Amino acid sequence: MKLYRDEAVVLRTQKIGEADRVITLLTRTSGRVRAVAKGVRRTGSRFGARLEPCMLADVQLHRGRSLDVVTQVVTLAPYARSVADDYPRYTAATAMLEVAERLTPEEREPATQQFLLLVGGLRALVGPPHASVRRPAGLVLDAFVVRSLAVAGWGASFDACARCGAPGPHRAFAVAAGGAVCRSCRPPGAAAPAPTTLELLGALLAGDWDAALAAGERERREASGLAAAYLQWHLERAVRSLPLVDRTPEPTTDEGSVPDVEPPGPPPPGRAVEALSAAQAADRAARAPQGTPA
Ligand SMILES: [Zn+2]
Repeated sequence: MKLYRDEAVVLRTQKIGEADRVITLLTRTSGRVRAVAKGVRRTGSRFGARLEPCMLADVQLHRGRSLDVVTQVVTLAPYARSVADDYPRYTAATAMLEVAERLTPEEREPATQQFLLLVGGLRALVGPPHASVRRPAGLVLDAFVVRSLAVAGWGASFDACARCGAPGPHRAFAVAAGGAVCRSCRPPGAAAPAPTTLELLGALLAGDWDAALAAGERERREASGLAAAYLQWHLERAVRSLPLVDRTPEPTTDEGSVPDVEPPGPPPPGRAVEALSAAQAADRAARAPQGTPA
C-alpha cells in the first residue's frame, strides 16, 4: 500500500543533500506531490534526465511521512527536450508549470483537471513536427491560464455581465468583478478592451482555436494583459486565504547559494505572473519579424 504509481508532470526540482533532488510533481490522481529522487545528481543516474521540469512520466513512489521517494520513472513524453531550444516555447512552458503549482496549493489534493490541462497545454506547445502549423506559444499559454483559473473555480466571464448576468457583449472588463461588466455594474477603473479581445479570450476559454487563431496582434496583446491581471488578482487572494502560509521570502537562487532544504509554502504571488510576462515578451519578440515585414 505504501508503494503507488501515477502519471506526473515534473513542475520543479530542487537540490537537497549531497546528490539528491526534491521533485515537485503534478500527478494525475494524487494532486501535487513532493518526492525525493535519490542520487539523481550523480553522473550515470538512471533518473536524472527523466525528472527535469516539463517531463511527463509514469512514476512509482514510496509514500513517506512528509516527502515521498521516487523509486521508478518511465518517460511518457519528453516535453522538456522538445521546448529546450525554442525560447518562447520554453518560457511559456515554464510559466505554465508555475501557474499549475500555484493553482494547486494543497499537497495531495486530487487535481486531475489541472493535470489534464497542463498536459494538454504542453502537448499543444510542442505541437506537430512542422513548426508552421504549431499554435503560437503565447496563445497556448493564455488559453492555459484562463482555463486553469476556471478549473480552480475562478472562471472569468468574457460575454455576459459577471455581476448581474445581463447578456453581452459588454465594453468593460473588471478583474475584481469577475470579467466583463455591463454599463450599470461597471466599477471605476474597469478596463475597456476592444470587443474583439473579449471574443478572443472567450474563444481561448472555450478551446475554439479557429476563432482564436483568426485574432490580430492587438487583440492577442490585450488578451495576454487581461489574462495576466486576472491571474495575479486571484493568486494574491488565494495566498491571503491560506492562513498558515509562511511569508519568508525565497532566497535568491544564484548558482552556489541554492538552499539545501526547500523553503516551505508556495512562492510569492508575483512570480507566476512575472514568468507569464516574460513568456509573453519572448513570444512577441519571436513573432515580431513576421508581423512587420520591412
Ligand atoms: Zn451588470
